[in-house]
Amino acid sequence: MAAHITAPTKCLCGHIDLFSFSSPGMSGRRQDRLYANSTLCGDCSAHIRDLVKPQAKGFYKITLPQLVGRPRSVSWANSLRVAHIRSLGPIMARLKCSTDPVAVVALAVFEMLFKITDANFWLSGKDQAFGAGHWVVSEIEHLMRKRDLSMHENSRSAYCYWKAINPAVIHQARQEASALLSSPPVSTGESPAVQPSQAQPPAGGTSVFL
Ligand SMILES: [Zn+2]
Repeated sequence: MAAHITAPTKCLCGHIDLFSFSSPGMSGRRQDRLYANSTLCGDCSAHIRDLVKPQAKGFYKITLPQLVGRPRSVSWANSLRVAHIRSLGPIMARLKCSTDPVAVVALAVFEMLFKITDANFWLSGKDQAFGAGHWVVSEIEHLMRKRDLSMHENSRSAYCYWKAINPAVIHQARQEASALLSSPPVSTGESPAVQPSQAQPPAGGTSVFL
């Protein structure tokens, strides 16, 4: 039986969070640690989920590229994409108005998603809620990592799609996000729950988050 150990672990954002180590063996323990080190802490994840909560109103102007695929696939994928922009557009409009650096990254993630022209991506992800907090958290983690890890690869990921098709799109998303990511965190007063009460600042550096 695997021993469950909960230990403070440094996360991708630089914050320390409690992480449960449960995989058996030395290599399991190592994998667990790698996972913890390459994902965001609970507070940062919660902050992102809060930023991308469904919005009732709002319009975001975006030019959708022509989809590529068989005619029937394109037509179906197009309607799926329209449904996604209906639900995500208001969220993107809200992100656009925010001065929060994390909102800028979240918006870059959605921009990256809507650049995808392969009809099959939209068809295979027809049940995917791209606005779901965990999807956005995972995409932001992809953008933040210094190197890609196979354990985080996901066929529903816009990041993984562009990594295979055209990494220039990822560079652009990182650039859009970098100006604000590298500046000190901005306190907008909009989301008081943002400030972590227990998270410790990273040693020897400024966290891009919170
Ligand atoms: Zn954090």
